Amino acid sequence: MQGQVLSADIIIVGLGPVGAVAANLAATAGFDVLVLEKEFEPFALPRAIVFDAEIMRIFDQIGLAEELTGITRPLGGSIYLGSDGHPIRSFHSRRPAHSKAWWQSNIFYQPQLEAALRKGLARYPNVRIEQGCEVQSVVSTDDSVTLTGKDISKRHFEAKARYLLACDGASSSIRKCLGIGLDDIGFEERWLVIDAYVNGSMRWPEFYEIPPEVRDGRYSLMVCDPRQPATLIPGVGKHRRWEYMLLQGERDEEARQPRRILERLSDWVDPGNVEIIRSAVYRFRALVAETWRHGSTFLLGDAAHQTPPFFGQGMCHGIRDAAQLIWRLSHAFRQAPNQRFLDDYQVEREPHVREIIAASVRAGAAVCITDPERARDRDNEFRTTEIARKGTVAIADIVPPIRSGLIDAETGGLRLPEFAVADDGAVVRLDTKLNGRFAILSPHDSCELKLEPRTLARWKAAGGQVITIGAYGSEEMLCDIEERFANWMSESKAIAILVRPDRYIYGLAPTASDLHRQISDLLGQLEPGDAACPPSKPTQDKEAHESLLVGGAK
Ligand SMILES: Cc1cc2nc3c(=O)[nH]c(=O)nc-3n(C[C@H](O)[C@H](O)[C@H](O)COP(=O)(O)OP(=O)(O)OC[C@H]3O[C@@H](n4cnc5c(N)ncnc54)[C@H](O)[C@@H]3O)c2cc1C
Repeated sequence: MQGQVLSADIIIVGLGPVGAVAANLAATAGFDVLVLEKEFEPFALPRAIVFDAEIMRIFDQIGLAEELTGITRPLGGSIYLGSDGHPIRSFHSRRPAHSKAWWQSNIFYQPQLEAALRKGLARYPNVRIEQGCEVQSVVSTDDSVTLTGKDISKRHFEAKARYLLACDGASSSIRKCLGIGLDDIGFEERWLVIDAYVNGSMRWPEFYEIPPEVRDGRYSLMVCDPRQPATLIPGVGKHRRWEYMLLQGERDEEARQPRRILERLSDWVDPGNVEIIRSAVYRFRALVAETWRHGSTFLLGDAAHQTPPFFGQGMCHGIRDAAQLIWRLSHAFRQAPNQRFLDDYQVEREPHVREIIAASVRAGAAVCITDPERARDRDNEFRTTEIARKGTVAIADIVPPIRSGLIDAETGGLRLPEFAVADDGAVVRLDTKLNGRFAILSPHDSCELKLEPRTLARWKAAGGQVITIGAYGSEEMLCDIEERFANWMSESKAIAILVRPDRYIYGLAPTASDLHRQISDLLGQLEPGDAACPPSKPTQDKEAHESLLVGGAK
């Protein structure tokens, strides 16, 4: 590679789960993609174990969901035990609404998922992966990026692209190189994480009232015992995950000793029946990058934010980042809308991520209590809330809508529910028909919606489509299975919806004139922009752009 200048439309640095999803999406969108990864194998320590239905929809968009159902299984929910060992709180995953809907919560084994995502990239001739290549410096302007680094043989390389996606994880070299700071939301706890295979049956500590749905492996358990906060998560097959908060005075190395690990696990399983796969001590933290876009460079995944894993959302955030960024880049690449269109990436994603981080920090702060009196107060509070909400809070409810950015301020921001439709006699997901494009969805056709030919032409030129979903299928109309779409539209008091390529709703239109206004507003932001419109964030600090990482990293 020495002396060669690599080039692509998009360079993705980091082939963790977020970089791999971003690369699959960018390849699907037709970009010429270069992936640079410093390691040869996926990260070996235990990390993510659960993802939600929205993430499965993104995997479906890249054609990998059906395959991934083979290495995932549904998680029914999570039960919290209080300091007296009895349940104080519960979360439940809703069952899929129909045969084509995905499970709300899916358990997996991160190395297997990463392997499947990497394998998926082999389908694309427009993706080049260079492993053993460590990026060391970046120059990022509004029009292009230039990277330099060293390969495994310490030879220098250079690479250029229109866009750079920094998916290089929590200690992101690119973030540091561009001088982007982190906002510390103020949570830090050390937890020991153990992945193990359990051969044979579990044993259950007598002090705890273990509900049947935990015993049979459908639910995870959050042990809020002030003497030793801990978590038990059932994995796929024989895989089980234990997480223990490390108490004051406990040293990382001592906690990781196999003898000490087996001692802990012996409360739950006969040590002769357990095989430790791996263990690690993590500092769970809550951090958000101050700037997610710097010229043509975008931060995604752990490079942009870190979330304490109490709701299993860190990787999910990153995969949403990728899904919400790639269609924007694809549109910007073809149609050059104004700069704000790309700045909206952070405008939308940051509050979304912060909301979930705040919920995770609250959950973490409650779980990590070691003072018995405060733990009893927490137990009472959770029990009271649990009675009031009748235990019906679903894990999916933690993920908020989009509240700002490219949406109709009055009606936009929700995720489009999953619908099944019949197309030419075959039942398919509506997501498949949307195919990652803008769409007007309605039980009415474009004549009934009074869409003018000129508006329709502009809509199509901007990459939009019109999809009619009615009680009976025809060549022009998809058939609404069990009238779920019609019922949802009537509950939402809408005659049409404008959906974005990431399946978030731009707007719900109660009348034809609302629809016309929303289309016009949206097209105003999608069509080639006013060159005079400045970026909404300052991005051009030449010194920061050109600072070399080597020797200059934080
Ligand atoms: C204990 C624990 C439990 C978790 N549980 C969950 C969960 O259940 N659900 C969930 O959604 N999330 C969970 N998370 C969070 C999740 O694991 C992370 O958010 C996710 O792995 C981050 O993915 P990423 O691709 O952004 O970064 P990473 O996976 O860290 O990937 C970064 C990649 O960039 C490469 N790289 C770095 N620097 C360079 C460079 N200079 N040049 C080239 N390559 C480079 C690295 O080698 C690496 O491959 C958990 C985390 C922990 C610690």
